[in-house]
Amino acid sequence: MSLFEEVRAFAQCHVAPYTVQADRDGVFPKEAYDALKKEGHTSLLVPKEYGGREGSIVDHVETCMALGSVCATTALCYMMHNVATMSIVAFGTQEQKAFYLPKIAAGEIALALAFSETGTGTHFYNPEIKAEKMAEGYRLNGKKSFVTSAHHADYYLVLAANPEGEGLSVFSTPKNMEGLRHDDVAWDGLGMRGNASVPVYYENVSVSNEHLIGAHGDGVGIVFSVVAPFFILGLASVYSGLSLAASTCVIEHAVSRAYTDGSNLSQIETVQLHIAELYTSSCASKALTLMAAHAALEGRSDALALIISARLESSTNVIDVCSRAMKIGGGHAYSKRLPLERYLRDAYAAGIMAPSTDVLSIWLGKALTGQQIP
Ligand SMILES: Cc1cc2nc3c(=O)[nH]c(=O)nc-3n(C[C@H](O)[C@H](O)[C@H](O)COP(=O)(O)OP(=O)(O)OC[C@H]3O[C@@H](n4cnc5c(N)ncnc54)[C@H](O)[C@@H]3O)c2cc1C
Repeated sequence: MSLFEEVRAFAQCHVAPYTVQADRDGVFPKEAYDALKKEGHTSLLVPKEYGGREGSIVDHVETCMALGSVCATTALCYMMHNVATMSIVAFGTQEQKAFYLPKIAAGEIALALAFSETGTGTHFYNPEIKAEKMAEGYRLNGKKSFVTSAHHADYYLVLAANPEGEGLSVFSTPKNMEGLRHDDVAWDGLGMRGNASVPVYYENVSVSNEHLIGAHGDGVGIVFSVVAPFFILGLASVYSGLSLAASTCVIEHAVSRAYTDGSNLSQIETVQLHIAELYTSSCASKALTLMAAHAALEGRSDALALIISARLESSTNVIDVCSRAMKIGGGHAYSKRLPLERYLRDAYAAGIMAPSTDVLSIWLGKALTGQQIP
């Protein structure tokens, strides 16, 4: 059994039962997330010496894709945790690894990313939060606009300008630190309704070098060598998984939707054309995402271009797949008897997560023609 199949089987038992409630009530899928922790999935990227599974980027992709094929909102929360974990694995000091990683491996803590801000939007790599140098340590002041899993994660990785020089720094802040405040508004997104992505305010939050992940200036490395592959490909995986879910759901529906004359929906040629298109798009998203993950694992020079392509392909495809599926699903889909309208709402987040697909398209065009990207 592949890791994808294993995680999918797990998710059908332990994640699927909470998906409808997470979407309907806009609540974090706590039971599903607890099951992911208990089963060791949140330790996927933690090295074995700290008690984890030491999975690769391919394992990250297969896991996020399998979860995305069952519950996209749970998959996205999980994916953010993996990216934050990998930042500590790749850049944390020995002390930080010894502090965080065994706890992550044991499922005792989960992490979130506090990168985006209102002032810079999709250009999250230009944070405006102030990290002011004090007699001892630093003081953080500012606001992060969307922190997925906010109340349910234990530590947030905060991206800030390097207070000691050029570039960026990343601090890890416990969610209950003095001066750290969550916005009272509940997350009420169009889709991804279990994400609990709320604004978080930093008001004179005191941090020290203990909170700094790695060294000052390592934020640039974290963005390019961890966030770029694990986050961009993680998004491609979640939305490839969602495409597969929509494709499977609508194919089953077309076969089972019978008319009184004894025929069924799948026998109509227009439906067959749509099914062929959406199945092909789903497979293309999955294949390109896995191909990019293997390129990243092998350290190939075209890995970044493939990673961006996979995100672009899966984000465009998922909206097309879900739109076609809605059309075939007809009244059954529109009336929510099928989960397709939830899939379509979830799919709309695919392109807007930073850097958005518009921004990434421009970067890819520049990179492929030898031009500088940020
Ligand atoms: C469900 C969800 C969960 C999220 N979770 C997190 C999280 O956990 N942590 C986190 O840090 N952030 C998170 N975010 C934030 C997300 O990553 C983006 O930063 C945020 O959605 C940007 O929104 P904005 O309206 O400010 O974008 P804007 O900057 O206003 O951009 C709006 C649109 O304009 C276009 N655009 C902008 N600039 C350019 C350009 N230069 N070239 C071409 N097109 C451009 C893009 O198409 C973009 O989609 C989350 C967002 C969502 C929707």
